[in-house]
Amino acid sequence: MFKKILVANRGEIALRIQRACQELGIKAVMVYSEADREAKYVKLAEEAVCIGPAPSALSYLNVPAIISAAEVTDAEAIHPGYGFLSENADFAERVEKSGFQFIGPTPESIRIMGDKVSAKQAMIKAGVPCVPGSEGELPGDPVQMRRIARTVGYPVIIKAAGGGGGRGMRVVHTEAALVNAVATTKAEAQAAFGNPAAYLEKFLQNPRHIEIQILADKFKNAVYLGERDCSMQRRHQKIIEEAPAPGIARKLIERVGERCVAACKKIAYRGAGTFEFLYQDGEFYFIEMNTRVQVEHPVTEMTTGIDIVRTQIMVAAGEKLPFTQRQIAMRGHAIECRVNAEDPYSFVPSPGRISLWHAPGGPGVRVDSHIYSNYFVPPNYDSMVGKIIVHGDTREQALARMRTALGETVVEGIKTNIPLHRELMVDAKFTAGGTNIHYLEAWLAQRPR
Ligand code: ADP
Repeated sequence: MFKKILVANRGEIALRIQRACQELGIKAVMVYSEADREAKYVKLAEEAVCIGPAPSALSYLNVPAIISAAEVTDAEAIHPGYGFLSENADFAERVEKSGFQFIGPTPESIRIMGDKVSAKQAMIKAGVPCVPGSEGELPGDPVQMRRIARTVGYPVIIKAAGGGGGRGMRVVHTEAALVNAVATTKAEAQAAFGNPAAYLEKFLQNPRHIEIQILADKFKNAVYLGERDCSMQRRHQKIIEEAPAPGIARKLIERVGERCVAACKKIAYRGAGTFEFLYQDGEFYFIEMNTRVQVEHPVTEMTTGIDIVRTQIMVAAGEKLPFTQRQIAMRGHAIECRVNAEDPYSFVPSPGRISLWHAPGGPGVRVDSHIYSNYFVPPNYDSMVGKIIVHGDTREQALARMRTALGETVVEGIKTNIPLHRELMVDAKFTAGGTNIHYLEAWLAQRPR
């Protein structure tokens, strides 16, 4: 096992990884920008290294600064968390070439999955169900382009191969609009991602977002830890996640989970990963794979009892997965609410000093957050300041526990989206379960103030 790991991230996930290291008896080196000097996990760290000024381009994305922090502290491995450099294949390569273990998959795996065209091709080969569309990159010839779209059937969605974070996509409803839409998407993709390649797929009208968590080791052992329903989104950002997904047959989840495991073995995947799917009319359609730990991993930890971050570290150190698929059992229901520092109506970010923070507690309640009373939320980063996660025997119990937890939570000095979560936890459609990815935005459009 490693003796020392460098945590190349900030906020709640940096704290989450620091906690996992402590439990495993590993020293965690924390890095921080000048804006995060006061963070408690930095103050409490045995070792901490400042890697630059507040802007992430100069600190959390500053590869030379991070590598030299690992060098001066004699760390053996680097955990990238999520966001920042976590899905940057060049970074993973630099880490390994510098003699450190990257806690995640190989640079090749990240590269394949980071390009949506090659990812989809790998999934089709591995037998994972995908959205029907152009097999590979769209040809430039308008005649061929129209023929592909006609076969798939309108509406279609044009997606940039290098896209991410909900950018680089365009829905096309008619043949007349197709060629122009492809040209615009390609030009935008070239400017934004340096790669003009685009592909086309069927646009699903009212899908749910369901994803499968997997874990794999270096010995081609892989397991799936069930699914998460992340359909409650605003502008492609998830705000509530839960496990299991309400109303989907276990048999179907098992079948898709087994396909994901087979795909992991086929591409020699190692570490934690997530297969994201759209689910509509009883069918699963792969959209992309995330090659890192995700924000919403706690709901899976709550239902399976498996520590995903700990397992990531163990398999990166070359250990075998400590469980087989048959030993994994799902119990009860878990829900996560992301707490964002933002106005709950306008969604304008609300950084600043937190004058009072009172966290909820009680049976089945978990809070993953780095904030505290008198903590200053810097304006430079993502507005998420923590997550409230609850577990119950049933979905009803989990909902009741979340309502209690949200009722207990006090954050003063900044605005948060907790009032929004309180409203959603009593919304008839959400509490009935199974809302699609458009539900939250439609609900917001009609929300009484
Ligand atoms: P990104 O990497 O930018 O997050 P994804 O491929 O994961 O891109 O897609 C982001 C979101 O776009 C999905 O969660 C879904 O809301 C929508 N989307 C993507 N593909 C389709 C599709 N074929 N039909 C309908 N919606 C889609």
